[in-house]
Order: sequence, then C-alpha cells, then structure tokens
Amino acid sequence: MDRDEFDFENRIVGSEYTEEDAVNENSLRPRTLEEYVGQERAKENLKVYIDAAKMRGDVLDHVLLYGPPGLGKTTLATIIANEMGVNIHSTSGPAIEKQGDLAAILSNLSENDILFVDEIHRLQRSVEEILYPALEDFALDIIIGKGPMARSIHMPLKKFTLVGATTRAGQLTKPLRDRFGVLLKLELYTVEELKQIIMRNAGKLGIEIDDEGAVEIASRSRGTPRIANRLLKRVRDFAQVAGSGKIDRDIACYALEKLEIDRLGLDNIDRRMLRTIIENYGGGPVGLETLAATIGEEAISIEDVYEPYLMQIGYLNRTPRGRCATVKAYEHLGIPYRGESIGQVSLEDHESEE
Ligand code: ADP
Repeated sequence: MDRDEFDFENRIVGSEYTEEDAVNENSLRPRTLEEYVGQERAKENLKVYIDAAKMRGDVLDHVLLYGPPGLGKTTLATIIANEMGVNIHSTSGPAIEKQGDLAAILSNLSENDILFVDEIHRLQRSVEEILYPALEDFALDIIIGKGPMARSIHMPLKKFTLVGATTRAGQLTKPLRDRFGVLLKLELYTVEELKQIIMRNAGKLGIEIDDEGAVEIASRSRGTPRIANRLLKRVRDFAQVAGSGKIDRDIACYALEKLEIDRLGLDNIDRRMLRTIIENYGGGPVGLETLAATIGEEAISIEDVYEPYLMQIGYLNRTPRGRCATVKAYEHLGIPYRGESIGQVSLEDHESEE
C-alpha cells in the first residue's frame, strides 16, 4: 500500500502531540483536580495520596501515569504539582542521555519538588541505574573515573517526587516499576466527558457552540481530549468560513465530513487498516509486523495510537496470533461478513493475553 497516500505526520485524529497542539494546549490545560474532567478512579486515589502527604508534611510517593497519548498524563503531572504547592521540572526519557544529565537535574531539585519524566520507558539503562537509589534513598552514587583511579561519590539529594508517564507500562523494567508507590492508569474518555471538555474549552477560546455541536465533536474524538481540542479548532474554522461562526450539529457534521472523519472518529488510516485485515488477510489474525508493513505504519504507532480506540469500540481484537477485525468492523465498512472468522472466537485469547 502506498504510504504517500496518507499524511501520517499530520493526522487530525492522531493522538500524538504535534506542534499545532502546542499553541493552545497550555492555555487549555486544566490546573486543578477539580477542573480535570473524568478519570474518576485515578483522581480519587490521587486526592487521598496528596491529602495524606500534605497532612504528614511529607513528600508525595513516586507516581507512574500510563495510558495512550493525549489522555492527560502531562496535565495531571502539572496538577499534582499545583495541588502539592511545589515546583515541577519536566523532561523526557530520551532527553536524558547520560548519567551526568540526570545527576544535574536531580541535584537542582528543591525539597518536595516534582520531576516529571515523559516517555519514561525510553530511559537508558545506565541512567536508570542511578535513578534507583535516588528514588529509594534520595541519594546518588556516582562512579567517577575509570580503572584503578575510579572512585564512588555518595551525594545526598533533597526529597522529591518522580512522576513518570508512559504509553507502555509493559516496557518498563521491573526494578523501575517497583519503585513507584502509586500507579495510575488513564482510560479513554466517554462522549459525555469529552463534551464537557469541549464546552469548557470553547468558552476559554471564545467559540460559540451548542450542546449538539459539542456532542458531535465529542463522539468523533476517539475518547481523547487532545483530539477533541484539535477538532474543536478545526470545526471553528469551518463555522467561521461556511457558517455563522457558531458551532451547531450541522456545521460540525459538515466540517468533520470534509475532514474525512466518520461518525466514530475513524479516518482514512483506520479504515484502510481494517480493510487491509479484512481484504488481505480474511479478517485476521494477522501479525502486527505484517500489518504494519502492509499499511506502511510503524508497529509501535499501531499499538499505541490506532489500536486502543479500535479495540475500545469493538472493531478489533488483539490475540496472541495477531489482529482480527470484528463483525462490527465489517458492518461499518459495508463489507459482507461471511461466517465466523478466527477473529470472532478470539476474545478469550485476548483476555488470557492480558
Ligand atoms: P498526554 O501527556 O497524556 O499525552 P496531555 O496531558 O498533554 O496528554 O493532554 C493533552 C491535552 O488534552 C491537554 O492540553 C488538555 O487541554 C487536554 N486534557 C487532557 N486531559 C484532560 C482532562 N481530564 N480534562 C480537560 N482537558 C484535558
């Protein structure tokens, strides 16, 4: 299949962070737990830990946030810092190249500060090793020099909280995962929650929108606030140029149709992926790598970005033998479904895989 047919980098319903998002994300980011819509379970637990740490006057335990991109991990890290009344320092796994980089960051933290490390699964092993004692004992043990001249330096650190974010908790090493006292999984948002986010952000951006318009955008946002924000801005452009400026259901449908995002939020790439499984591989199972090569997308993106939503809406099953399209996917694409494919008996496989 021809990769050039798609603009993967600028996919409107892609949940990965793009430069365009940067323009508005900071102004739209909720600042308190109260403002943070949804994720009730994670919020409830977090509130208890924050209150308890505050009451004890102690540092908050290390927190690991995991879930697909665009669900609010960075936002939640900032909120934790706000609620604790401490500073946050942000970096990411791939940005910390050497042990010395991490040592410099850690030794600059003030008491109770938060260190936010995005994509923490991408930390180098050597860097990770000096992180262990830092997390456990708030100290660094660094070896300086080589051979007979090498000596170890023990450097105490201020107490701090590490907030790690990852799309792939499974890729974290066990010693690292074990050092997080709080593990919070973020889930895809419901249409109602996304609607609330859209209404609130429309207010912040000075966009006029009615309930039905917001529901239309929400139901095509793949359970992801980042996509909801992006679609809101795109639909606003259409409302200004082709309508009265106000977003209602009609203008939202019109705009989203022009953007080729269907009523479930699927775009050409999703449809092509499902169609490939059905037409080239008899509905599945097809191995992840084979599928990736056929549609010209990276296996990691398929797993992190495309699949969570397709699985959530019941269009795709992940089995140990590969990916399978479900009857619902056939129906959505208007392809007649002939009998039971292996994919349809794979739910148990999927569960046992987890
Ligand atoms: P992640 O770090 O998981 O990729 P972000 O925290 O960057 O996601 O969230 C992307 C955007 O989505 C944020 O700028 C924010 O505007 C919005 N957002 C995320 N979660 C929420 C939420 N629970 N309530 C309101 N807006 C949210």
